[in-house]
Amino acid sequence: MDQMEPHVIFDLDDTLVHCNVHFLRARQAFVERMLLLFADTGISGEEIWRRQGEIDLYQVQREGLGKDRFPRSLVAAYRELCSRFDRPADPEEEKRLLLLGYQVYQSPVELYPGAREVLEELRDRGCQLYLYTGGDEEIQVQKLVQAGIDRYFAPDRRFVTPFKDRIRLRQLLELHRIPESESWMVGNSLRNDILPALQLGLQAIHVPEAQTWEFDHAVIPEDYRSRWRSVSDLREVPRVIVSRGEEGERVRRNRTAIGPPEDSTPGL
Ligand SMILES: [Mg+2]
Repeated sequence: MDQMEPHVIFDLDDTLVHCNVHFLRARQAFVERMLLLFADTGISGEEIWRRQGEIDLYQVQREGLGKDRFPRSLVAAYRELCSRFDRPADPEEEKRLLLLGYQVYQSPVELYPGAREVLEELRDRGCQLYLYTGGDEEIQVQKLVQAGIDRYFAPDRRFVTPFKDRIRLRQLLELHRIPESESWMVGNSLRNDILPALQLGLQAIHVPEAQTWEFDHAVIPEDYRSRWRSVSDLREVPRVIVSRGEEGERVRRNRTAIGPPEDSTPGL
């Protein structure tokens, strides 16, 4: 790996620190509250859950991953229920729902097992580390500090954006003059992390989360197969990057010594 010093771009939420679990808990509390308020209507918890999720996803697409979106989507889902069952929306109830929504950002920050060690190992091996995360800048940086992993990402290498897509990722690459072919994206979202990275020519490591948010799904075209892989544990990430680097070096040496090898595509 000494020869290439890859650039490794990390997602934060549900890759290095737990995030979705806090939203799931708040959504569950919302459903229970609505079931109480609308008990006489016969509406099911599944329907409330689904509808709140749809409203939230719609808002993500419109306004991105800002901190106000989720609390507001709880209120919007409540208002929709009120309207459907012909009841006035209670401003006090709406205040309580906003509070419930904002509580997710006050939840204690919890690192995934091995997250710190993974960053430490990659840094010690000479990798250039970057953070690429969706959401509110203040909240995301605060999480980084609370998790005790801010030291691995220099302030000018933290990229917080309301949307995560190919355009934003390209901005990050251009800002730091990062060569695509020597770069990795590591993240839990096929849609936000893996697909845009592959489209731009990077290599990618998908670290799926147990309870995936609907928004994170995407179909990855077969053409990209050789440049990405999925691991079940974040702790596998350094091995994947190291073995790919060694493989690349072997290929380069072979080319120099005997011309192009018969099959130079590593089986990722
Ligand atoms: Mg994520």
